[in-house]
Amino acid sequence: MAEFAGVSVSDISASASGQQPFVAAACFDPGQLRLRLPDSVEIRFDLKTAQVLRLSAVTLLFVTGESKSGNEDKNSFSRALKFEFGTENESRDFCSAVEKCRHGKINGTSEGSLENGTVIVHKSKFDDKIESTSAKMYFHYYGQLLHQQNMLQDYVRTGTYYAAVVENRIDFHGRVVVDVGAGSGILSLFAAQAGAKHVYAVEASEMAEYARKLIDGNPSLRERITVVKGKVEEIDLPEKADILISEPMGTLLVNERMLESYVIARDRFLVSNGKMFPSIGRIHMAPFSDEYLYVEIANKALFWQQQNYYGVNLTSLYGSAFQGYFSQPVVDAFDPRLLVSPPTFHTLNFTNMKEEELYEIDIPLNYTATVGTRVHGLACWFDVLFDGSSVQRWLSTAPGSPTTHWYQLRCVLSQPLYVMAGQEITGRLLLVAHSAQSYTINLTLSVKMWGPGAEQGGILQTSTGKLDLKEPYYRLSQPQPYAWAQDQQQPQQQISSLDLSPQIQDAVDPALMQQSSPNSTAL
Ligand code: SAH
Repeated sequence: MAEFAGVSVSDISASASGQQPFVAAACFDPGQLRLRLPDSVEIRFDLKTAQVLRLSAVTLLFVTGESKSGNEDKNSFSRALKFEFGTENESRDFCSAVEKCRHGKINGTSEGSLENGTVIVHKSKFDDKIESTSAKMYFHYYGQLLHQQNMLQDYVRTGTYYAAVVENRIDFHGRVVVDVGAGSGILSLFAAQAGAKHVYAVEASEMAEYARKLIDGNPSLRERITVVKGKVEEIDLPEKADILISEPMGTLLVNERMLESYVIARDRFLVSNGKMFPSIGRIHMAPFSDEYLYVEIANKALFWQQQNYYGVNLTSLYGSAFQGYFSQPVVDAFDPRLLVSPPTFHTLNFTNMKEEELYEIDIPLNYTATVGTRVHGLACWFDVLFDGSSVQRWLSTAPGSPTTHWYQLRCVLSQPLYVMAGQEITGRLLLVAHSAQSYTINLTLSVKMWGPGAEQGGILQTSTGKLDLKEPYYRLSQPQPYAWAQDQQQPQQQISSLDLSPQIQDAVDPALMQQSSPNSTAL
């Protein structure tokens, strides 16, 4: 991709007269010019109808054509812009880039064909992997205080982080800390409370401004915290960190693909053998049986069984609708007694794993059914470990444990499996990352032969499902506006005697819980 950094742009369209010039980076894609403004704002122009006029050696007038009606790109519109370049060469290269791009000749692989003088800047690792529209929605979401508040009001989450930090003062006192994705800055403030020498609070969304305000309102801590606005993949810091703190977990641990940013931050900013809070994460899984849930999902598609909907036969879409509903993982809090076997887990070690290992996560499954029942799919949850020098603490999202804003996740198969007590269930959970900051979930469960002759092995029945973690079905009491909005409040769920929380789990200090709002019904 060709990029012209530091171009001064004035919008001289009638509607925008009187606007100040702004500095932007101009990038070319096939058929498109993109202007990247500070704060991740991006404006796109269709080059097919654009005209470039030379006003002086370093000044160009760029006129875009009328955007066609029905144009899907909402960012494309008609404008007249004045571009000021640093050098004549740059302005000439820009003109020839417009010509090449107009015909779609520039793409990701033809950078080398640009003429001398063109500034080529490589996109960051984040931009290479993630669609800009996804990133824009993502950071817009986290830029809003209400969503940060929802996370802060998850007292299991925030209380466990607080306890993990203050009980492990030894790991923070006099240390340099980087808070990866600082949001409101809460974890930076905790680290400063624990005596950190300095905390760099890195936050890419507009929330960085609020974090500055919040930190400013805490005079005893603010001298030791610097908010750095930008992506951890792109910003630079003046020194290395002794310890990273972050809350990068999404639904099923990996949703949002922020663990990759956490691992990149480790490689960029952490001293060797530095600490990470959290240091490991585990995805826990077990087959479950839930007839009500299965029927609820299957029934959603029944609408399309109608043969006379205002005189229209809908049945040809029934199969697609049925599959569509089963491609949504279900997010809610369930009773752990629905589990058919003891859970297994898959560990991700944030301290030594490669970022690329998060692109595809392949988990073999093997269980023995404890009851005879119909298996409707795989139930999943996660926990993370704060491996402090004084105290080890787990943050668990297990069914039966106090509910968090992550709840649990269930992948429901459109074809249930019949098992007998003692029968073996095998399978595979394959998570494949996609550019919309989430994963495609491929699930296969099989039931092995059972009873006399079972030693010869063999599969009796197999069921597969393909689900999109980006499009979950929030089976909660309130509607969820965004895929990221996992944080609506939920009435307390039934707690089973089956304890699935990690063995080293400490109860959250009741003193911490007293900080919770009396009005909160989240937990
Ligand atoms: N640490 C805060 C917020 C956690 S939510 C807390 O515990 O309450 C995750 C935050 O990370 C969001 O505010 C999001 O905008 C930010 N974030 C996600 N990816 C990032 C990246 N690559 N670089 C910087 N910030 C990022």
